[in-house]
Amino acid sequence: EGCGICTNRCPFDAISIINLPEAVGEPIHRFGQNQFELFGLPNLEEGTVLGLLGPNGIGKSTIMNILSGTLIPNFGDYENPPENWDRVIEHYKGSSLQTYFSKLASGEIKAILKPQMVDQLPKVVKGKVKDLLENVNERDKLDYVCKELMLENVLDRKMENLSGGELQRVAIAATVLRQGDFYYFDEPTSWLDVSQRLNAVKVIRSLAEEGKSVLVIEHDLATLDALSDNVHILYGEPGGYGVVSGRKGVRIGINAYINGFLTEENVRIRKNPIEFTIRPPTPEDEGDPLASYSDISKDYDGFKLSADAGDIFYDEIVTAFGSNGIGKTTFAKMLAGVEKPTSGEVDEEVTIAYKPQYLVSDFEGSVSDFLYMNAPTYGSKIFESEIMTPFALEDMLEKKVSKLSGGELQRLAIAATLSKDAEIYLFDEPTAFLDVEQRLVAARVIRKMVESRNAASLIVDHDIVFIDYISDRAMVFNGIPGLEGHASKPTDLRTSMNEFLGNLNITFRRDKETKRPRVNKLDSYLDREQKEKGEYYYLS
Ligand code: ADP
Ligand code: ADP
Ligand code: MG
Ligand code: MG
Repeated sequence: EGCGICTNRCPFDAISIINLPEAVGEPIHRFGQNQFELFGLPNLEEGTVLGLLGPNGIGKSTIMNILSGTLIPNFGDYENPPENWDRVIEHYKGSSLQTYFSKLASGEIKAILKPQMVDQLPKVVKGKVKDLLENVNERDKLDYVCKELMLENVLDRKMENLSGGELQRVAIAATVLRQGDFYYFDEPTSWLDVSQRLNAVKVIRSLAEEGKSVLVIEHDLATLDALSDNVHILYGEPGGYGVVSGRKGVRIGINAYINGFLTEENVRIRKNPIEFTIRPPTPEDEGDPLASYSDISKDYDGFKLSADAGDIFYDEIVTAFGSNGIGKTTFAKMLAGVEKPTSGEVDEEVTIAYKPQYLVSDFEGSVSDFLYMNAPTYGSKIFESEIMTPFALEDMLEKKVSKLSGGELQRLAIAATLSKDAEIYLFDEPTAFLDVEQRLVAARVIRKMVESRNAASLIVDHDIVFIDYISDRAMVFNGIPGLEGHASKPTDLRTSMNEFLGNLNITFRRDKETKRPRVNKLDSYLDREQKEKGEYYYLS
């Protein structure tokens, strides 16, 4: 049920916007009649990183397209689209945006953009990674960037042979290497693991430290937090209109987002705050396990995974994390029965519903067709209220599966998996391409399903804030990416995080107000203190 204030269908804790667009003045841009409208633009500042935080479809990429000079805004007059920047410059007379747009139009300043969809890159850029990066090495930082982003081993590969995570890092590198004044990064961490995310933070922040202005769109709150100095929150009605909030310090801005209330704007963006519960250590005796597996191993040509024997208990959610290429997906496939272990056994009696990491979008047919075939409870009242509404599937039922965006496909795949009657729900990277709200909805729906069905869930993911929010227990994968991996047995979150973060040499603290995990700056007082105590991940 909605709150009655907004017109869009919303997740079960209804986003209700108090302000209507009238209250925020004229739009900056409108795509057409009854189409999306954007209100406001962020204020860029030299030498800082500015973050944009908000749901999918709220205008974040549109803002980047305007600021990078790709889209000339029409101020709502979509019938007379502007041919040049004159009206824009006139509109912002007397403000810093006037200077910005006139210098951008005359070529006096240069904006560089890392686009959202890096998987499209190989279609436009051919050849070897090395050739691409040498071509754009305008700031003579090739060695530094390749080292920080761990690209040294892929320099001789062809663009079309790169994995998603490798493509993302090449795209970040190519952006950072170019000579510009303003740098725009649209969702730079999709496909990256935790250490790669923090390396990307370091490289992107190095631009600001050199005095450049940087704007970033990011849905991983721990990454956004470490990356930005200030943030603007986008609110409104996804697909309808988006309003840019005033600039807020990064801590205050993210906390406001978590609490669901923007004080200065007097806008409630979510009915309930996101609450991080600090869990006590898991008791020793947890009753009978739902499923057990022995020590297992998998040998591929060139890669070997070993996993310690473990149990999964009723009603619990276990998360699994570790670097890319360390065997998480291999482990998930063995549990799901898609791959046979080379040695050892998994419980084959247990029924498993499995969402793989890589989603196939080559299904010929609509979302509705897909649900008929893959979601056993599709059409029931329960499906509608507990799965379809929270994942906002109604609006995409008629769309072709092959035309869905990454976030839509992910929601569809999670929904179909949760519709199955199973004992273990296995999700490989469910937060990829989802916005913060959708991650939260996914966490809640998974929790609800697991508890109401007396089942359990195992979730592989890289988003520390999501992991912290959803985990009862956790398992960690360590080793040498691409060569050998080792999986620990599921244990309490603190132990797992300590092992994982200890290896990465990263510490997290908790925000005093919201209890969300935050990355400590390397060598800061807290970082050194926590390392001395061996507390890489504070629970309180
Ligand atoms: P975000 O990056 O926040 O997910 P976008 O800025 O990409 O959102 O899009 C905001 C809204 O504008 C969406 O509803 C999208 O469908 C719509 N939109 C984006 N580009 C166009 C376009 N060229 N024509 C019409 N609508 C568009
Ligand atoms: P993760 O999910 O942790 O990123 P994966 O389990 O997907 O890692 O892969 C671990 C390693 O095993 C990678 O180096 C990958 O290339 C390799 N690998 C995965 N599947 C196969 C396969 N079918 N044959 C050979 N190597 C594989
Ligand atoms: Mg976008
Ligand atoms: Mg994987």
